[in-house]
Amino acid sequence: MAWSLKIFRFAGINVYLHWTFLLILIWIVLASLNSGEPAVEALMPVWVILSLFGCVLLHEFGHALQARRYGITTERITLLPIGGVASLEKMPEKPGQELLVALAGPAVNLGIAAAIGLLILATGMPFHLFPLFEDIGQINDWQGFSSGLLKMNLILFLFNLIPAFPMDGGRVLRALLAIRFGRADATSIAARIGQFLAMGFVLAGLFAPNFLLIFIGLFIYLGAGGEANYEAQRSVLSRLTVSDVLMHQFTLLHAWETIGQATATLLDGQEREFLVTEDNQIIGTLSRDDIIKGLQQYGKEERIKRILNPEWIRLSPGMSLNDAFEEMSRRKLSICPVFENGELIGVLNQENIMEAVMIESAKGKGQRA
Ligand SMILES: [Zn+2]
Repeated sequence: MAWSLKIFRFAGINVYLHWTFLLILIWIVLASLNSGEPAVEALMPVWVILSLFGCVLLHEFGHALQARRYGITTERITLLPIGGVASLEKMPEKPGQELLVALAGPAVNLGIAAAIGLLILATGMPFHLFPLFEDIGQINDWQGFSSGLLKMNLILFLFNLIPAFPMDGGRVLRALLAIRFGRADATSIAARIGQFLAMGFVLAGLFAPNFLLIFIGLFIYLGAGGEANYEAQRSVLSRLTVSDVLMHQFTLLHAWETIGQATATLLDGQEREFLVTEDNQIIGTLSRDDIIKGLQQYGKEERIKRILNPEWIRLSPGMSLNDAFEEMSRRKLSICPVFENGELIGVLNQENIMEAVMIESAKGKGQRA
């Protein structure tokens, strides 16, 4: 994600902070200082916000560390003003595992709330559960801080368990349905339940009237549709293999060719990505963007060897198209060579894959009609 700052690395996972988050902190500090109270007390809302995001971060680590048990890595965790995002390589496909990964985040917040609750009991601080939503600006001592943080963790716990994508509760629901219906059907049922709930939120928000409810409703509505599309695409891709969509016609570039020659090849045909060879071996790939950037930077006389992308992987024709697609997306590869018995038989690019999804989806609709 652009505009994020890496703040630290823990358990092999980089943690990023979105810059808009810093703006919010600065704004709160300024607002607090203006109120003219003694420094530490005046900054109480800042401590509350920082602690709240600490809890969001622990929530995301809950997902990431549970996923790691199933061999799924997490590239990064990003903290945004509206919450956190753990970029898991993928969700586990076994319903039981998805269930535990989805529950691990909210469970962390419940754990934190319970720990603060014990602390409050032990110290005999006064505590009122209601109103559940506290005005952060009104918190001005450590007692308010403790009970505020407890309530916020309860809210995080409940909010994330709303049974609709993209909330954790949506995944919990999908995982439970998948035990009975299979993943693809479970996703579309869960997505429909989510959209139904979302409309409920929007309606309630309009009647109340409460802008926050409307916002949550729209957020869930879009998230539910997105997850259903993603799952439909995944299910199409896992029915196909690399050999179903690979291209047998393709142009190889040679490492000693110039950027000018590559530009001519680019203009001459439909291909946008190329494999680059040297001594009959593939040594990398070159995309249209690489060529244009190279042209700007080095001019047309430079060899393409200087600008190629050296990372590539070999695919085999029998490989599931979904596995190939996930691997290509993860490594940000736009084209891959396909080998059979050590021989180069074709190439696969992202565009092929998207075309296959569109064609298969169109076929599916025809059969149903
Ligand atoms: Zn979560």
